[in-house]
Amino acid sequence: MPDLQFIKVNVPQPSHLYPLQPLLLGTAFTESFTSYVTRLAAIHQVPTGILLAQELAPKINRYKGPKPDSLSQLFFHIFFNLTGAWNGTGTMALEPLLILQELTQQPTLKYLTLISWKNVLPTRNLLRQYKAWCPLCYSEWSNNGIPLYEPLIWSISVVKICHIHDSSLMTYCPNCSKNIFFLAWNTRNGFCCRCHYWLGTACSILESPFLNTQDKQWHHFVAKQVGELIAKTPYLIEPPLPESVAKAIDKCINIATNGNASAFAQQMYLSQTVPRDWRIGKALPQINKLLRVCYRLSISLIDIYLDNVDFRNSIVLKDLPLCEQYFKTNRPFNVDKVREFLEQHKESTPPQSLKQLAFKIGYDPADLYRHLPDLCRQISARYKLHNKSNFKPRV
Ligand SMILES: [Zn+2]
Ligand SMILES: [Zn+2]
Repeated sequence: MPDLQFIKVNVPQPSHLYPLQPLLLGTAFTESFTSYVTRLAAIHQVPTGILLAQELAPKINRYKGPKPDSLSQLFFHIFFNLTGAWNGTGTMALEPLLILQELTQQPTLKYLTLISWKNVLPTRNLLRQYKAWCPLCYSEWSNNGIPLYEPLIWSISVVKICHIHDSSLMTYCPNCSKNIFFLAWNTRNGFCCRCHYWLGTACSILESPFLNTQDKQWHHFVAKQVGELIAKTPYLIEPPLPESVAKAIDKCINIATNGNASAFAQQMYLSQTVPRDWRIGKALPQINKLLRVCYRLSISLIDIYLDNVDFRNSIVLKDLPLCEQYFKTNRPFNVDKVREFLEQHKESTPPQSLKQLAFKIGYDPADLYRHLPDLCRQISARYKLHNKSNFKPRV
């Protein structure tokens, strides 16, 4: 009989917190880091705030309060405005994820953020400040006993639809009409953190997200490309580099407009100097603008980031939907003009959706909501009420 004293057994280190596994890693519907944090708190049967106050904040200097074992006001502030960044590319994501990776012994948590893409993804316009979700996905998961979670793709600003259900992502609670923070003290996936309303029941008031076929194709393309980016993240051999993006852009300019960056800007509906700056590595492309280039040239987003673009066939430029054919970011928002326009149309018959009105005046609906939230909610509520009787739920 062997001497038991000398038998070596590889026993994994026990984790301090439950070793919860992330959901759907390596797919377009990979779980987001904030969703994982929410599920981790739920499995420990404590509010998200308690989990983070006890396990995370004491390990980060700036969240420590003036007295021993106390927390700073900054810690409480992060639950309201800044937790969207936990899914992103910077320190706000890195700090909590390194701590939770260790506490749960789950080394793959980094793939629940965009941190692997930090060298090539500028933060501007990248992430939502508040949650967005597909109520039809929630309904299906609930009906089929699938755990409620939030895919990372829902937190990315440029993605406006669920490409499974062809429906707009909702961005405010249908019950209390408020935006929902990614992490609040009592966050629960699938429920409003303020009024606790079930977010999977909003399907009865969904408006069609598409104005026309072009619009539909564009939104599908965007969601698919971003989904592919997320799905490939765990399989990256090394982090993508800015130089690769610059090289890929240079190839695009050469093939589309014989190297003429100004002509390329015109063709892609970009500001005059933008492609030149991208090409020489002076600036990194914002994902929303880069997607326009990908769409027009029928190439994939990930191929630009990894410099794998390959133009074997001749190029046929695809038409962008009209709403993408103007320079949103360089135009100041004229609040008075927009307010006057919305006031004129808020009682129109039949009611028009906010998206339709935003399109007519040439602004992003999100900008309208940001500057004139009350008026926008009034218009959306009237439109949804009007369409409610015609709605046929898609199961
Ligand atoms: Zn969906
Ligand atoms: Zn609510």
